[in-house]
Amino acid sequence: MSGGAKTRLPLLVFLAFLLLGPHLLSEFHVTLLNYIGLYAIVALGLVLLTGVGGLTSFGQAAFVGLGAYTTAYLTTAHAVSPWLTLLAGLAVTAAVALVLGLLTLRLSGHYLPLGTIAWGISLYFLFGNLGFLGGHNGVTGIPVVALFGWKLDSGREFYYLIWTALLCAMLATQNLLDSREGRAIRALKGGGLMAESMGVDTARSKTLIFLIAALFACVSGWLYAHLQRFVNPTPFGLHIGIEYLFMAVVGGAAHVWGALVGAGLITVIKQWLQDLLPKIFGQSGNFEMIFFGIMLVLVLQRVREGIWPWLVRLVPVTARQRTLADAAPLPCRQMPANGTVLLEVKDVRKEFGGLVASNDMNLDVKAGEVMALIGPNGAGKSTLFNCISGVDPATSGEIRFLGERTDALESRQIVRRGMGRTFQHVRLLPTMSVLENVAIGAHLRGSKGVLSAALHLERDEEARLLAEAKRQIERVGLGEHLFDEAGSLPLGQQRVLEIARALCADPCLLLLDEPAAGLRYLEKQALAELLRKLRAQGMGILLVEHDMDFVMGLADRVVVMEFGEKISEGLPEEVQQDPVVLEAYLGGVE
Ligand code: ADP
Ligand code: MG
Repeated sequence: MSGGAKTRLPLLVFLAFLLLGPHLLSEFHVTLLNYIGLYAIVALGLVLLTGVGGLTSFGQAAFVGLGAYTTAYLTTAHAVSPWLTLLAGLAVTAAVALVLGLLTLRLSGHYLPLGTIAWGISLYFLFGNLGFLGGHNGVTGIPVVALFGWKLDSGREFYYLIWTALLCAMLATQNLLDSREGRAIRALKGGGLMAESMGVDTARSKTLIFLIAALFACVSGWLYAHLQRFVNPTPFGLHIGIEYLFMAVVGGAAHVWGALVGAGLITVIKQWLQDLLPKIFGQSGNFEMIFFGIMLVLVLQRVREGIWPWLVRLVPVTARQRTLADAAPLPCRQMPANGTVLLEVKDVRKEFGGLVASNDMNLDVKAGEVMALIGPNGAGKSTLFNCISGVDPATSGEIRFLGERTDALESRQIVRRGMGRTFQHVRLLPTMSVLENVAIGAHLRGSKGVLSAALHLERDEEARLLAEAKRQIERVGLGEHLFDEAGSLPLGQQRVLEIARALCADPCLLLLDEPAAGLRYLEKQALAELLRKLRAQGMGILLVEHDMDFVMGLADRVVVMEFGEKISEGLPEEVQQDPVVLEAYLGGVE
């Protein structure tokens, strides 16, 4: 991504302010900024975990505590150097996060947040009750951190360490989001099903962001311990965990800058209210919590996306001019020879409770042919697609793809073998660009991981993936919409986008579920032309479609389903004459 000078200006002003801050501001304000920085690091983890990934955690304060207590204990009881205890803290946090992740990330819906509350409370009590951690009195005498001999023993000096850590974390997170792994993470929110069908291991992606969020919290805890040089359990309790989440939500949970805005706003308002409210009420107490409760409700009602997106709209910046770098094409799969049997479906049965949606279905698809699967609504066509693509496994029966049994494989293992699909009910990420949506389809054609993404060391591969996505988008005729939000396209074009996404995986078999629905006449013709070209290049296509002119003009063979069963099969003209089909499918009239 390249930004114009105009878009950079606010950033440069902000960085200049940060650099000069400690020289211009009072002790009090420097301390405030230090806390904002510490909180923002934790909130940043929640941006990734909750805002982007859709996994809510109330328990981040416990990870902050792990970072703080690890260094507190090791530096005071064993005189270990603070920089080593940072590594130790990260290792401890990673281990705990992996165990907790394994236990809780499988929980769905509201069970996940409840799970995070449970371990948030447990760890908090652990800190307070372990004798060697000083119980509720905590640990004192934590040493000063020194950087190349420079002792960071005042808030003004420590400030630079905190804000460097925060800015590095923000940059790394932004880089990560703007990468192949980042797209996989962003795809989590759309429900795992689409991401898995594109080859993303969603369990791994979830664990990854959970781990990163925990490690950020740990770093914040380590910094906190060496700034305060004293820790006790209070700042690592559940109510602080809730506050961190609150910061991310208020700031704009899906934006890296939202973490900072949220942390800044909540910290300043809290400080201000703690001074003001007791004066109004004439007695001391945590009145600010009441105010925060009301504010959260307002934010969720009025500015769902948080304050950051709203702030950005206030600043008139020119739209980012994006250009795609030229890149070498990705290697392609060797296409099977024309006529090779790609897919064999044998006696595939799918039951939903008492309903037999697919009743011992049989069909096959060869390379270089369009096989149409037609039948009335509810006949079981989409169900069969889901069995074939591994999205919803068959109850019984055999499915072979390229000669290999695939009925027991996960959808992401099947797409890797060269089967691409689209969905009848479009599954894309509406706020992401057309380009990024389609690039998710190329997930398995890249290999660079999170670390190289965070450091932007994967730019070669990334350029090649994006170039491939662009090529497929142009191929299906959406070239003008590369940078448009996918959700802004008409439904018909969203379906076409899904074809480009499927093509990005470099498949030899395409499963298209009603691709022409919602397209206008000329668009349908263009789609038919594209499918003919793909067929000519040796692609096998299994097509579900209701537009009979479209199907009959395109298909080489047709299978007709009704009530989960195959009632006819043959050449288009044969099927069209079949009395059973006319009776069942067309209601007896031609
Ligand atoms: P088609 O795509 O041919 O219109 P479907 O495969 O979507 O038909 O549906 C076949 C039958 O299976 C329908 O009766 C539908 O209600 C039922 N069905 C599909 N998916 C499910 C599901 N997940 N749970 C229960 N019933 C389902
Ligand atoms: Mg269907």
